[in-house]
Amino acid sequence: MKVVVVVGGVGGARFLLGVKAALGLPPVGPVSDGAAHQVTALVNTGDDVWMHGLRVCPDLDTCMYTLGGGIDPARGWGLAGETWTVKEELAAYGAEPSWFGLGDRDIATHLIRSRMLRAGYPLSAVTEALCARWRPGARLLPMSDDRVETHVVVDDPDDPGQRKALHFQEWWVRYRAELPAHSIVPVGADEAAPAPGVLDAIAEADAVLFAPSNPVVSVGTVLAVPGVREALRKTEAGVVGVSPIIGGRPLRGMADACLTAIGVETSAEGVGRHYGSRQTSDEGLLDGWLVHTGEKVDVPGVAVRAVPLLMSDVDATAEMARAALELAGADVD
Ligand code: GDP
Ligand code: CA
Repeated sequence: MKVVVVVGGVGGARFLLGVKAALGLPPVGPVSDGAAHQVTALVNTGDDVWMHGLRVCPDLDTCMYTLGGGIDPARGWGLAGETWTVKEELAAYGAEPSWFGLGDRDIATHLIRSRMLRAGYPLSAVTEALCARWRPGARLLPMSDDRVETHVVVDDPDDPGQRKALHFQEWWVRYRAELPAHSIVPVGADEAAPAPGVLDAIAEADAVLFAPSNPVVSVGTVLAVPGVREALRKTEAGVVGVSPIIGGRPLRGMADACLTAIGVETSAEGVGRHYGSRQTSDEGLLDGWLVHTGEKVDVPGVAVRAVPLLMSDVDATAEMARAALELAGADVD
């Protein structure tokens, strides 16, 4: 069976572990060549940023490290056993930006990526090369090889009365999403093309799942790449989303600030309606929507099911993924 999952970083990576497990694959690490099931992740690249001359792709790396067994489990991002000597040395120089921490081990990934990009390789080829080491056991496809960067328009904290566009990372990491966002824009998305394999993966899928990733700056950015929405509306696979919002709140992170910025209520119902029905609306994307046990949610034209949605461990996450696959009409056993 071919399963396609639209993902961001931490929430997406954890969900991918569950999808692999639900398919009977080892959640962490490589999958044997003849495996009956194949997982393809369409990964958000709108968070990508140049830092100190290095190209950093936070969501791709979180997925690669998590599925490859290198992630720091407590932080949920970056590598286990990390040290911070380079960060301290940069700080001693007063080098900006100082609010973004790159670990020493992690920097090797960014050095290789940056060198390959500068030599002319597309991001999808670079990602494949990096995955040859980590062997995530899922195909990780950047949504696009073209540069797309999410920017957030806020009141300029240094110049009252003026507005300013910040790179998403600055808004999220430096300001903890505490500056109210007037708008969130995936800059470059209009001219971007899906990376090789993205549209084919959607067309050939047996099931398409939206991870419980941030609906605006993770899933929403992948959906902003021209051609992706159309492919999702056309695929014969069932399309099912998993709510990142439980009891009116995101589980971790500040997704509520992003939803407010685009005028969507922070609730499982609000997000489900925002994705919309593939069957009864002209622009909607979902056949099914998974919400947390006990939530009463109505999304017109979409089959809503309530199951436990806490990714507390791989087994619990595999149960979620199994419910999502079932709702998508994909027979796991
Ligand atoms: P990021 O790119 O690292 O910010 O991660 P994602 O966009 O992939 O995922 C962030 C989202 O995951 C947040 O909006 C959380 O609400 C959601 N999330 C995190 N843990 C859980 C969980 O255990 N269950 C559910 N349903 N959502 C979760
Ligand atoms: Ca992210």
